[in-house]
Amino acid sequence: MPKPSRQTFRGGFPMNTATLLKAMKKILDPSRIVHGELERRLYSYDSSYLSVRGRYCPDIVVLPRSTAEVSKIMAFAYGNGVPVTPRGAGSGETCGCVPVRGGIVMDLSGWNTVEEVDVHNMQVLVRPGVVHSRLNDHLARFGLFFPPDPGSTRMCTLGGMVANNSSGMRAVKYGTTEQYVLGLEVVLPDGEVIVTGGQNCRALKNASGINLTKLFVGSEGTLGVITLIRLRVWPRPRARGIAMACFDKLEQAPAAVLDVYRAGILPSGIEILDESAIRAVNLYRPEINLPSAEAILLFEVDGNPASVEWEGQMIAEIMIKNSATVEWSTDPQRMTALWQGRSVVAAAASRLRPDGTRVFAGEDVCVPLDRVAEALRAIKDLGRKYGIAVVAYGHIGDGNIHTALVIDPDNPDEVSRLDGLVDEIHRLAVNLRGTTTGEHGVGLVRSAYSLLEHGNALERMRQVKGALDPRGIMNPGKIF
Ligand SMILES: Cc1cc2nc3c(=O)[nH]c(=O)nc-3n(C[C@H](O)[C@H](O)[C@H](O)COP(=O)(O)OP(=O)(O)OC[C@H]3O[C@@H](n4cnc5c(N)ncnc54)[C@H](O)[C@@H]3O)c2cc1C
Repeated sequence: MPKPSRQTFRGGFPMNTATLLKAMKKILDPSRIVHGELERRLYSYDSSYLSVRGRYCPDIVVLPRSTAEVSKIMAFAYGNGVPVTPRGAGSGETCGCVPVRGGIVMDLSGWNTVEEVDVHNMQVLVRPGVVHSRLNDHLARFGLFFPPDPGSTRMCTLGGMVANNSSGMRAVKYGTTEQYVLGLEVVLPDGEVIVTGGQNCRALKNASGINLTKLFVGSEGTLGVITLIRLRVWPRPRARGIAMACFDKLEQAPAAVLDVYRAGILPSGIEILDESAIRAVNLYRPEINLPSAEAILLFEVDGNPASVEWEGQMIAEIMIKNSATVEWSTDPQRMTALWQGRSVVAAAASRLRPDGTRVFAGEDVCVPLDRVAEALRAIKDLGRKYGIAVVAYGHIGDGNIHTALVIDPDNPDEVSRLDGLVDEIHRLAVNLRGTTTGEHGVGLVRSAYSLLEHGNALERMRQVKGALDPRGIMNPGKIF
């Protein structure tokens, strides 16, 4: 993990805050400019532990509400070499929206209109600040949904999701955000506005030209500001069922997952709770009373009622063959109860020690399916080596392991041990032929591993960045 800065870091761009404020007032209504010391400090954080340890304060915060305003702000910033960091809800876990070189933070969270639900063409156009769960609430009345489902659904914005290529429990069946982005309106660092995926296109497939849409998805605000998003949407499945399987040995769980795939079944979610997560949940909410086991798997299947019932029965049979005890249900109340353990695990983690706080660091590695058990065992050993409590859970269906590290943040020795542990978790993932991040992204937190993960391809990424942002003003200090 990079060493956090304790001081406000000023980027050294040649402009004082008063001049910046004067320039922004020419573009925006003063009510959409934040420059008070205290309010600016609120923009020093996202959900990462690193952002709490650093002090990365913006010089000014702007809240544009039109593409023209974004374009003017960018043209000004570009002309004057002022860093610009786009921000959605700040729920990211990598310091992605934190202005590590100062300058302008562009808060897009209030620009949150669903511009059009094009039911006939199975797509929707949204502004970047629309919150994920609100979009799905809106789409429900049309019998549609946008499948990626981050745990932060009630917070995170679509702009942040596209910028981070976010996903969640259902990625195993429905994929990540990138599979749904048909086109984007983007304001480039110099203020030019482009539309990717075809100027007026409403087609669901498009093989024309170099795929610039994919380039911007996952670029973490380093290439431009996303101002309009055209998303593919899907019909809502009619039925759902959940199976919970408990295993005496951790290794049995990943093997059972592979058996489900081999049987030709693709569940919409496959989650694992290891023994530490089971313990944390039972301490936090004893009434949930999860059975004691080395691992619990939760399978969700969705589709039409007949196929859901058949797949559920098949999964139950496969689990029994893999020596698990299993319960299957399509009853909504029972499904909620079965899912409860998984839904509270993140909040429960801190309960592993009375004075502990769960910190978001080293929380998102993703490994090949056949290395999951090895990764979970190794992470536990590392926790013991560094004397830090680790709760492990995650999206086992695609190898994405979440580790909740519980420390006393006021103890400098523990914080230093945490840094060692996080570093080893990241390196372990790469050594197992995985990645340091399955869904949360790189930002500042994991930029130290970019070369290790990408080799000389990193230099080509830098060239792409340099071509679109030759002055290096877009979200500097991230990824590279
Ligand atoms: C409790 C919790 C659970 C979470 N669960 C998940 C999960 O299951 N899956 C998952 O993928 N993530 C998860 N996250 C992480 C986070 O919610 C996602 O990365 C989310 O997509 C970030 O959205 P945001 O609006 O908060 O973006 P921010 O944190 O504000 O920004 C994230 C990045 O996007 C850039 N950005 C934001 N808006 C724009 C824009 N309009 N144009 C260009 N760049 C932009 C920022 O510069 C930054 O680099 C979780 C976080 C929390 C706190």
